[in-house]
Amino acid sequence: MDYKQYIKIVEDWPKKGIQFKDITPLMDNGKAFKAAVDEIVAFAQEKEIDIVVGPEARGFIVGCPVSYALEVGFAPVRKEGKLPREVIKVDYGLEYGTNVLTIHKDAIKPGQRVLITDDLLATGGTIEATINLVEELGGIVVGCAFLIELSYLDGKEKLDGYDVLALMTY
Ligand code: AMP
Repeated sequence: MDYKQYIKIVEDWPKKGIQFKDITPLMDNGKAFKAAVDEIVAFAQEKEIDIVVGPEARGFIVGCPVSYALEVGFAPVRKEGKLPREVIKVDYGLEYGTNVLTIHKDAIKPGQRVLITDDLLATGGTIEATINLVEELGGIVVGCAFLIELSYLDGKEKLDGYDVLALMTY
C-alpha cells in the first residue's frame, strides 16, 4: 500500500524549519491504518514478543493495536511526572527540544523480549532513550517498528545492531 498518500506534511510546525509529518489522515482511514498495523504485526510475528513498549503519545497509537493483535501486553513510556508508581528515567535530545522519559520499574521483567514502536524515527533520540529504559530493566529489544523514517536525520545510526522496520521513508 502507498501509505504516503495518507501523510500530510505540515511546513514549519511546531517550529520554523521542521517539516511535520502528520499521521492523523492515516489513522482516519480504517483500511490504511489496519494495513499498516498488520505489516508491523507480520514483522513481529516470528520474534516471540513478550511485550510491546512505546513512547507517548504516538508510540501508543502504533503500539497498542500491535500488542492487541499479538495478544501481548503494552507498556507505556511517558514524560516525567505522568506515571503514578516507581519509575526509572532517562534524559534525551529531540529534533526540537529536550525531554525526560520514564517507565514503571516493574513494566518489564528481565529476559522479556520487547518490540518498541513509535510513529516516526527522526534523530533517534526518543527511541534510543526508550531502548535504554527497556535494557536497564533487563528487557531484550528484538525489534523497533515505525510508520515513518526521516532518513536525512540518520536516526538509524543509533539503532545499529537492532532489527528496524519503517513503512515509509522520507
Ligand atoms: P527523534 O527522537 O528525533 O527520533 O524524534 C522522534 C519523535 O518526535 C517521534 O515520537 C515523533 O513523533 C516526533 N517527531 C520528530 N520529528 C518529527 C517530524 N518531522 N514530524 C512528526 N513527528 C516528529
